[in-house]
Amino acid sequence: MDWFMILISVVILWVASLCKILHTSCSPSKAVFLENGEPGHQKNILLVIAHPDDESMFFSPTVAYLTSRGHNLHILCTSTGNADGMGDIRKEELYEACAIFKVPLSQVKVIDHPDLQARQTVSSINLFLSNFSIAHFHHTTDGFGQTWDHNLLAKIIKEEVTTHSIDSIITFDNYGVSGHCNHCDVHHGTRKFLHQSSGGNVEAWELISTNLIRKYCGPVDIWLSTLSALQSPRGQMHCLLNEHPRRSYHAMAQHRSQWVWFRKLFVSFSSYTYVNTLRKINY
Ligand SMILES: [Zn+2]
Repeated sequence: MDWFMILISVVILWVASLCKILHTSCSPSKAVFLENGEPGHQKNILLVIAHPDDESMFFSPTVAYLTSRGHNLHILCTSTGNADGMGDIRKEELYEACAIFKVPLSQVKVIDHPDLQARQTVSSINLFLSNFSIAHFHHTTDGFGQTWDHNLLAKIIKEEVTTHSIDSIITFDNYGVSGHCNHCDVHHGTRKFLHQSSGGNVEAWELISTNLIRKYCGPVDIWLSTLSALQSPRGQMHCLLNEHPRRSYHAMAQHRSQWVWFRKLFVSFSSYTYVNTLRKINY
């Protein structure tokens, strides 16, 4: 009976949190991220990710927020995720996922550089068992242990920023949600670019990595995310809610080569499907 009550409580909390997300995200008065007191002024934003599917697995609340408010979102994917020779397929899958998010394909760039490839393959089930959780299953075919040159990443990011007159960059934080080394690499590459271009007008934001419990509590995490954003210094942290969580699921489904059972579970139960908390990178 006790377990039944706990289960009912969890379901009620889950549904209430989802309702809160859908209600809050419909209120334009909550939308302050990137507006800086200039509502209606669209910005050029660059989302820097490491692999095709990062945008759908981790950044979908951010992508949905930016596109729904008319910002020009550019996506820079620094690899094709070419483990097992599937780079071309995964590249096409990324374009299809971006179409779901209504990001113009002309604003999606996938880098295919010999020094930014992942070749090591790790069995997904072995990785699943070795971690005793699903915390690190992401990109099991993208190769842990393949570190990328941060100077090269900084150079690529600089070219994109210059070409598209980018105002703001969004990327992973230094843990990269799952601890994947390539996620951390794009963070450090972004930081290197920011340091090299100090004095420029580009601002940057990082996606905060949460602990394991928060990571898998779905929409329920909005309460803690909102609280942490409220407690941060003004303008240093923003909590973005996903007004179309089902669209995130459809977008991830476009990554057919990756669409296996544990990723379906991830997209359903991950808090990153429902909320992104972004922190300003001060440099
Ligand atoms: Zn990734």
